[in-house]
Amino acid sequence: MEKKNHFSTPKLESETIESLSAKLLAATVELTRVNQELLRVQKEREEMLSNISHDLRAPITAIRSALDYLRDGEALSPEDMKSTIALIDRRTKTLEDLIQDMYYLFCVEDTSKELNFETVDVGLFLEEYFYDALADSRYDTHDMRLELPESLNCHIKIDIQKFVRVLDNLFTNAAKYTPADSRITLNAALSPDSSLLQISVSDNGPGIPEEALPNIFNRTYTVSSARTPGSAGGSGLGLSIVKAIVERHGGNVSCQSKEEEGCCFTITIPVVELPHTHQ
Ligand code: ADP
Repeated sequence: MEKKNHFSTPKLESETIESLSAKLLAATVELTRVNQELLRVQKEREEMLSNISHDLRAPITAIRSALDYLRDGEALSPEDMKSTIALIDRRTKTLEDLIQDMYYLFCVEDTSKELNFETVDVGLFLEEYFYDALADSRYDTHDMRLELPESLNCHIKIDIQKFVRVLDNLFTNAAKYTPADSRITLNAALSPDSSLLQISVSDNGPGIPEEALPNIFNRTYTVSSARTPGSAGGSGLGLSIVKAIVERHGGNVSCQSKEEEGCCFTITIPVVELPHTHQ
């Protein structure tokens, strides 16, 4: 019996060859793009890990030296003992904050974790947030203002908890990096075609140096160089968290600042159309 050849070479029309080559070329271009993106993400992760280990090392070194001091110090005065324990306490808190923020950022950036989207009335949501903040002692020494246009009748689809975190981070920064009595203003405005909403948190504090502005949302940025001198710093991840959350809402965040004139952080997110209800 004659053996059948399953692997006969197909005869390709020149047109087919051309279209296959074009497809192959397009696939190669796409593969190169994805590869470059992977390399970029990998580089960013490596930089972040190196920054994190640097940030973790500083408080751990301080805690270690304080412990050595307590252990080796012969007759420590009660004051020395108290201040060393207070230092351990402060540095441990720094570590806890950093670890919490790192975990939060990883979770927000993990797109396999769904956000809990709800449609909210912008005016009501911002008013509620603002009056809660007004009652918060962290803002007692600041001049807090809410400026919403009367005609702000629109809705956005947000994960409320995450969005509150965005506003919290911007408000606490505004309070943290500005002197007492400074103004902190929350306002909102619609784009001319009503498709986008801009929410701003601004202050009239010392502002951010122009050269630091492009880096403030970047988690790989060495934040210490961006810190306002003499101010209390944080984990350095606050604005990266803001950016990650806003981007998961299909929006973006930017900062305008002039030194000595303050900062204005603006979030832009799409407005949702509600189905018309007949009355
Ligand atoms: P941090 O934990 O250092 O506050 P963030 O990511 O929240 O980290 O902020 C990054 C840096 O941006 C801060 O260290 C600070 O220098 C600067 N910054 C943020 N908000 C303000 C503000 N309202 N006024 C002045 N500087 C600010």
